[in-house]
Amino acid sequence: MVAPSMDVLVALCKRRGFIYPSSSVYGGLAGMYDYGPLGVELKNNLKNAWWQSMVHDRDDVDGLDSCIMMDQTVLKYSGHESTFTDPLVDCRECKMRMRADFIENNQCIGCKSTNLTEARDFNLMFSTSIGPIASSENKAYLRPETAQGIFMNFKNVLDSQSRKLPFGIAQIGKAFRNEITPRNFIFRVREFEQMELEFFVSPGDDESWHQYWIDTRYQWWQDQGLSPKRLTKAEQTADDLAHYAKRTVDLLYTFPHGPDEIEGIANRTDYDLGSHTKEQDQLNIQAKVSENQHATQRLAIKNLETNAWQVPYVIEPSCGVDRGLLAILSEAYEEEELENGSTRIVLKLKPHLAPIKVAVIPIAKNNEQILNMTQKILKILKAHIPGKILLENTGNIGKAYRRHDEIGTPFCVTIDFDTISAEDATHPGTLTIRDRDSMTQTRVSIADLVPTLIKMNTLPQDCPA
Ligand code: ATP
Repeated sequence: MVAPSMDVLVALCKRRGFIYPSSSVYGGLAGMYDYGPLGVELKNNLKNAWWQSMVHDRDDVDGLDSCIMMDQTVLKYSGHESTFTDPLVDCRECKMRMRADFIENNQCIGCKSTNLTEARDFNLMFSTSIGPIASSENKAYLRPETAQGIFMNFKNVLDSQSRKLPFGIAQIGKAFRNEITPRNFIFRVREFEQMELEFFVSPGDDESWHQYWIDTRYQWWQDQGLSPKRLTKAEQTADDLAHYAKRTVDLLYTFPHGPDEIEGIANRTDYDLGSHTKEQDQLNIQAKVSENQHATQRLAIKNLETNAWQVPYVIEPSCGVDRGLLAILSEAYEEEELENGSTRIVLKLKPHLAPIKVAVIPIAKNNEQILNMTQKILKILKAHIPGKILLENTGNIGKAYRRHDEIGTPFCVTIDFDTISAEDATHPGTLTIRDRDSMTQTRVSIADLVPTLIKMNTLPQDCPA
């Protein structure tokens, strides 16, 4: 299967209402995208699948939703103020700015000149100020990762939920990075969403838990439809490792622009909780706070046997929703040659991710009896199938099938004259279920509609009914 080009995906996303450039009425903002009616459904389905597997299906993880704006001291002591930078160079000829590690042969990406400035560090965090008067005292940042909000709430969750090691805190939310060169559609953007788990373990148990999460996350992406042929694990070299990491394995997906990171799984050691705890110690010493009060501020756990404070190690699987969505769209996109010589575009999305679960199509758009029956079927489906059920009343079934193939709707249900002409229990009204992938059409009675869809929708391919 050949992967689609990025241009093909961008065009499909705009045409069908998945993703649009942001602020486009006034020319657009580089590195920002808005999600349209289908994009938001797909995104929510992906986030729900992650939340289900990380929080609801587990007994050792709690969820969190922390603020996007963060106090500058948090990001000072996390190391982000000093080290969350990319190397920036300017082209003296065309004035283009670019990341030094993205250029080849010391040539400008735009005009190919080699007349470039020396690389200098550029901090990726967006800053703002809280309150009416901007000053260095009330400076705040839009968080560059959701993780710091989790570390700030470590103690709150530990105490309120009576947790013991190992346990995790999961969060989905927006993150912001002032990328020097946003590119490759929604792959590298300035405003994006992350799905992050911080899993706290005893030092010494960190390596085996790290391996566990690498394998678990690799499998999860396959469960979302990504083929293992395009998904690889890549060990970061010592030069690549972030300032906090002991070991990091990236999951790379072969995007239309080539293999690139979809998720990083890092062993952050006790770096974050340790730095915040050290800072708390300093502040408490300066303020002459007693040992009792002092201890409550530490982002640590008391070892009941030794009575010593222990800072847990942290394993962090961190992925981008937008990159995940791009990978899923890229993997699902297919162009099929049909027997009549035409080409069918189809998004073979896993049903749990599909923006629309079922499209209901009446055969005649102005027939009152058919429309009444359509409303009845819609009501039945909405009561039993979670997710978006859509009425497609265009009167052109062929066109509706093509549209729903292109947006990945797994099933279309067609209401026709046999649906309304039920005579008795032995000749009940029937309707057609059309399967997106095989294009087969199955006639079922109205009573069998929901059980048939549930069976088709949820059972894995190789699972006997
Ligand atoms: P890269 O090296 O590609 O800049 P990173 O290693 O800095 O990424 P992390 O800090 O590990 O990324 O962030 C975790 C995840 O957040 C990434 O795997 C990615 O899916 C997502 N992510 C990071 N930066 C961006 C961005 N600018 N646009 C979209 N997603 C991003």
